[in-house]
Amino acid sequence: MSQDLELLIALQETDRQLAECQTKTRQFAIERERIESEFQHHIAAYTTAQTNLDAVRRRLRDLESDLVHFQSQFAKYTADLQRVRNQREYETAIREIDTAKKSVAQCESKIAEARAEAAKLEAEVALHAPEIEKRRAETDAALAENARAEAAYLAEVERIRVRRREMETKLSKTWLTNYTRVAKLRGGHVMAQVINGTCSACRMRLRPQVYSLVRQGIGIHTCDSCGRILFYRPEGSATASAEQVAAAGADS
Ligand SMILES: [Zn+2]
Repeated sequence: MSQDLELLIALQETDRQLAECQTKTRQFAIERERIESEFQHHIAAYTTAQTNLDAVRRRLRDLESDLVHFQSQFAKYTADLQRVRNQREYETAIREIDTAKKSVAQCESKIAEARAEAAKLEAEVALHAPEIEKRRAETDAALAENARAEAAYLAEVERIRVRRREMETKLSKTWLTNYTRVAKLRGGHVMAQVINGTCSACRMRLRPQVYSLVRQGIGIHTCDSCGRILFYRPEGSATASAEQVAAAGADS
């Protein structure tokens, strides 16, 4: 078999590996999302308590400022009472004092409720905090492991790419052009093994003369029907790996 044909087969194998790599590279990102979302799931109770606590604290601040307002109103109307000149002014002052007093009482009661609720939520947050720290540490460790595996994997992918570029330089320009053209047409599936005189990709029977040449490894031939590049392997023969072909090519 010619070196070009061996290189073409190896190129096909390399491209198959690179296509697999694309899928696997996406899987690292999917795994990262899964790890993070698992963490979010575990801390949901904590997150809810913390969000509610923030809301209660905001409400408490508003209520406390309302209380100051109502207390100052109460003080003002109480002072007004000292200055009334007639029965009508007296009644108005009494009514306003009464309203302010009720508002103060209502406000104080709401503040007490909010403080109790905040205390409950603070306890809940504090209860979950150590668990969160543990989970966060575990999550960070899992993410670091994912990043390490991805980096190692990407380095391997880069080695495959380098090997592919080496093959390209060794392959004759004509066959490289042919390979690229068929790859575009056939979704990357360029090479077709001949089995029982038939193109294994499109099932077209080869002309006897072409079959004979392909079997003997004389020249490089393409399938009349699908245009793929044909190769023949005697039954039981081992297929040279892409690495072996690249290495062999380097020696020649
Ligand atoms: Zn074919």
